[in-house]
Amino acid sequence: MHYHVAIFSNTVIFTLLIFYFTRKRLPLRSTKMFTAFLVLSFMNTLAEFATLYTIYHIETVPQQINRLCHQIFIGSLDVLAYVLFLYVYTKAYRQKRSNPVKLILLSMPLTAALVMVIFGSLYYYIGPDGRYSFGPMATTVYISVAIYVLSIIVLLLRHHEQFKGSAWQTILCGVAIWVFIAAFQLFNPTSLLSSMAIMLMVTFLFISFENPREFRDFEISSMMNFYAFELMLAEYIESKKEFFLVTFTVSNEKLLKASLGYRDISEILENIFKQNIDIIGKDAFHVKENTVCVLCRNKSIYSKLISSRTDRINLKNKKGISISADYFTGILEIPLYAHTSDEVLTILDYISGEGARKQNDGLLIIDDKVLAQMDRSLSIEMLVQNAIENDGLDVYYQPIYSTDEKAFISAEALVRLKDSTSLGFISPEVFIPIAEKQGMIKKLGMIVFEKVCRFAAENKLQLKGVKYIEVNISGIQGVDEDLPELLRSYMDKYSIPPEFINLEITETASVNAGEMLSRNMNRLRSMGCGFSMDDFGTGYSNLAKMIQTRFDLIKLDKSLVWPCFGESNKEAVILLDTCIQLIKKLDLHIVAEGVETEEQAQTLEEKGVNYLQGYYFSKPIPESNYLQFLADHKQ
Ligand code: C2E
Ligand code: CA
Ligand code: CA
Repeated sequence: MHYHVAIFSNTVIFTLLIFYFTRKRLPLRSTKMFTAFLVLSFMNTLAEFATLYTIYHIETVPQQINRLCHQIFIGSLDVLAYVLFLYVYTKAYRQKRSNPVKLILLSMPLTAALVMVIFGSLYYYIGPDGRYSFGPMATTVYISVAIYVLSIIVLLLRHHEQFKGSAWQTILCGVAIWVFIAAFQLFNPTSLLSSMAIMLMVTFLFISFENPREFRDFEISSMMNFYAFELMLAEYIESKKEFFLVTFTVSNEKLLKASLGYRDISEILENIFKQNIDIIGKDAFHVKENTVCVLCRNKSIYSKLISSRTDRINLKNKKGISISADYFTGILEIPLYAHTSDEVLTILDYISGEGARKQNDGLLIIDDKVLAQMDRSLSIEMLVQNAIENDGLDVYYQPIYSTDEKAFISAEALVRLKDSTSLGFISPEVFIPIAEKQGMIKKLGMIVFEKVCRFAAENKLQLKGVKYIEVNISGIQGVDEDLPELLRSYMDKYSIPPEFINLEITETASVNAGEMLSRNMNRLRSMGCGFSMDDFGTGYSNLAKMIQTRFDLIKLDKSLVWPCFGESNKEAVILLDTCIQLIKKLDLHIVAEGVETEEQAQTLEEKGVNYLQGYYFSKPIPESNYLQFLADHKQ
């Protein structure tokens, strides 16, 4: 009977051992400690077998052997408690290496107990109810273990935010079982349950933290996930030694995702990584949808990566479709350009986001210049956020000329940041995408819309010959379920007839958005609002969609208009003429954007363009200037 518990515990630990050592582990300090704990637990339960055997055969086994077995068993119990304490300590202090003096102090109880294990006396109780050992050796070890258990409890309670989720409670639970079993054993000394307590602790730790599966990436199974990366990064940073973050980012990810799907991007990333595996080693992390990275200490990778880099990968996916992906290598030197985990993660965000959008030569070495760019975009983000919250936005108006009526019967509302001093002038072309990315665009859009309604109402624009105002709607606003009602509430508030509002939606947004956008458009159209397709010619020019979505106006992008002038380009003229004819045949009206010269204005008018907009007539101007402009051009 007395062997049963030990056999069971030993078997469980052995199984975990096999599972654990056949999987890829993270080379973290805490993981190494767990490895030590696991191996020691196994040895401890083996030693327990030996003590059980020698104590139950005490009459025949030489006394020295019996004592030695007990020494190993009792001593390893204490080492286990100490290793567990170090494990929790490492996690509580985010993988920090503690200083040697502190370490010596922390190991005092263990040292004292081990001295007793070597020299202390131990007695054996041999009774009809069972057998066990006791005496100063055992007592000192119990006291030492108790000190560590207490310290573990304190660490867990004080630093539980460092343990992911409720995992700290699992360890606490394991420790509570230790305390409970120790107390039970105190009153029932013959019960011998320590192996059970240890086995439970090993299992708890394994389940809550140390299952190698916890770190494995879901999409790319040969790589580790973001959580593993964060842990590893913290440990590298704590080491205070120089190291490099090397990233591989697919830069045309949006396009690929639209045509292939997410799985294929993972596959591409995996392939890019494999191509570079000789240089950067095999421990990669999949940290962003479009990015994998490695941490390495070897400076020579720098030159190797630079000389071997490519920026395009061609491969066939599982369905046999050829894929060609653009990617770039990013290199960040730490601590030279980043000192904390947070700083590294911010730079990583930048690399995979805006860095990827701007990238064009296959290599992004983070230096002061890149950091300045990153800082600027973070500052813009703050500025926009601030502007949205504290009335920092202005709306400018750019008059639109009607070639039929020979008058400025409409205008486009264009947003501006009031603050043009702290970071210089920032074009909406720069801050609108940032607002979209940061989830601020709906609010921004509504502020602009309300300003337009208020301005039009207060100045009775309709009586001044303005038939409608063009307002830009971002693709994200367009698919917001609440859009129609929100717009309606402002139009009602300022008594603006919906016919006075023409909403501009970019060609790209209208082609990609699908069901929700058409529902919103139908609803708004039934109220009376009109629609313009903005930037025609910059997207895929999906004609079927253009007919389906029923726009009132098509706005020809500058890039379609400009090439026809100056050094005249025959093909460009053919393209423009064909577009104009086609749109006219569909009974839609045309606006030409970017009209900068008299020649352009005249030619476009001759070609039958209905409206002209551009610097030739006026730049976008503030409210008061626009009112003056209307007064000056009154017919
Ligand atoms: P867009 O809708 O294509 O607006 C026309 C842009 O062309 C404006 O730039 C305008 O100033 C510029 N432009 C007009 N005529 C000429 C010309 O003759 N020559 C040249 N070179 N440029 C001309 P802006 O105001 O910088 O706006 C840039 C973009 O930001 C807009 O492009 C639009 O996509 C976006 N945007 C502006 N205001 C808003 C807004 O309130 N909401 C949303 N969602 N987007 C906005
Ligand atoms: Ca526009
Ligand atoms: Ca446009």
